Amino acid sequence: MKRYTTIRLVLGDQLNRKHSWYSEKSESTLYILMECRSETDYVQHHLQKVVGFFMAMRSFGAWLKEQGHEVYYIRLDEPGNQQSIPANIQLILAATGARRFEYQLPDEYRLDKQLRQLTAELGLSYGIFDTEHFFSTRDEAAALFKGKKTWLMESFYRQMRRKHRVLMEGSEPVGDRWNYDAENRQSVPAGTRFPEPPLPTHDATEFIALLEAQGVKTLGSMAKQQLHWPINPPEAQTLLTFFIEEMLPQFGAYQDAMTQEHRFLFHSRLSFALNLKLISPQEVVEAAEKAWRRHPSRYPLAAVEGFIRQILGWREYMRGIYWAHVPGYYHMNFFEHDRPLPSWFWTGETKMNCLKHAITQSLETAYAHHIQRLMITGNFALLAGVHPDEVDAWYLGIYIDAVEWVEITNTRGMSQFADGGIVGSKPYVSSANYIDKMSDYCKGCAYKKQVKIGPGACPFNSLYWDFHARHREKLEKNPRIGMVYRTWDKMGQEQQEALRRQAAHYLQNIDAL
Ligand code: FAD
Ligand code: SF4
Repeated sequence: MKRYTTIRLVLGDQLNRKHSWYSEKSESTLYILMECRSETDYVQHHLQKVVGFFMAMRSFGAWLKEQGHEVYYIRLDEPGNQQSIPANIQLILAATGARRFEYQLPDEYRLDKQLRQLTAELGLSYGIFDTEHFFSTRDEAAALFKGKKTWLMESFYRQMRRKHRVLMEGSEPVGDRWNYDAENRQSVPAGTRFPEPPLPTHDATEFIALLEAQGVKTLGSMAKQQLHWPINPPEAQTLLTFFIEEMLPQFGAYQDAMTQEHRFLFHSRLSFALNLKLISPQEVVEAAEKAWRRHPSRYPLAAVEGFIRQILGWREYMRGIYWAHVPGYYHMNFFEHDRPLPSWFWTGETKMNCLKHAITQSLETAYAHHIQRLMITGNFALLAGVHPDEVDAWYLGIYIDAVEWVEITNTRGMSQFADGGIVGSKPYVSSANYIDKMSDYCKGCAYKKQVKIGPGACPFNSLYWDFHARHREKLEKNPRIGMVYRTWDKMGQEQQEALRRQAAHYLQNIDAL
């Protein structure tokens, strides 16, 4: 192998073409990218997720070469691939004689730890660089909330708006309000037209054959072996442009809505491109703000603010939570839940229409939007008392955008309240009422949304009350939940017992629901 003085590692979610590393060329620096079993196997991933990562990595490797950089790309089936990132790095260092190793800060604790250990063992000179992607640093949220008991997303978000001058007029928020959430919770009227973005099409035949030949176990499917996700910056830009032009005006109003008519509604589908750093959060936020400033009559401020809040607020805040709480976060289980995930989470074969729809869609597209994840699958898992490890593994595997820092904080934190309230101020649970209000799932369901007890009763109804009864000690002092217990206490003992018997029956037969 050719001799180099420096080896630079590029991880699969560090595909930022605008990183300052690439502004200068050096023949003595070798960039390395690698496909490894350690990454395909730490959880069972969706087929589209593994293929999407490999395609994006290969596209990045090819781009680097075109720019005149020295690149060594290790494919999954390459002879000599050690199938582990640190082991491959050691081999390459030895083969090239390089005396310096450089990498960008990984976004995952596991890899961060592995690379720190490796640099300590190597005894070579090394350099660690920022990924130049996020608005905030790893520890910015921790610094802001130092000494505070609660870490309010809203406070962090306002700080980000001020600091990065997003939707600001001097020192005040535009429109004199920080938050338009209350205007953003509508269901979609029948007959709504949903725009269809110009999605890319990538033939995945070669990749599927590779995974099969190597025995990589995946879940989910990919229709006609064609991948419809962006794998490079131009494709991500096309998706962003279409979103801004055709979808952003409606994004806010229908952000929480769900319908059987359409899988994506007015959601941007940018999370995969963002998480692999094919596009930056700054580009996305700027595009949304610019559209509103140019055409305020076309873009409701509530929609633009609602969208920006997801990226400048939630996404950055979740990253801050992750770095402040890992590795302890992995083991949090506030409710001490211990049930396995029902078997139909892996097939979609349940009579509950809402779950059938959200799970089948996830298996087929590696995507569900936020409220499907939070208020359908997450809601059910929490009400049923599923162990957060099981819930985490499912979410980390099934979604194309699932990288741990943003998956675990949303799943274990926001959705399962397993962190006891670090992310959310109360558990996100609901009975059929909310699901019916925000979706058309209940129409045509085998269960009856308004029935709580007896034949055909919607499982969400009794499970909702049973969850609160089971966890009264942990929840009743929460000021945001007190009302639930007042309603429960007003029910007669007979009604309470009937609800709990119904829930117990459903939980005993959970795989048959
Ligand atoms: P849009 O609705 O168009 O939103 C725009 C962008 O905002 C997203 O692309 C995303 O980058 C960001 N965003 C929105 N909500 C959140 C949030 N709660 N936290 C962080 N960023 C947010 N997102 C992931 O990227 N990876 C995950 O593994 C992931 N797991 C989740 C698990 C659960 C249980 C829940 C409730 C949410 C999860 N989310 C995750 C957040 C959110 O559901 C997805 O980011 C979003 O659905 C992606 O679709 P989109 O790009 O069309 O988003
Ligand atoms: Fe889901 Fe219950 Fe509605 Fe059926 S009736 S779709 S199970 S909420």
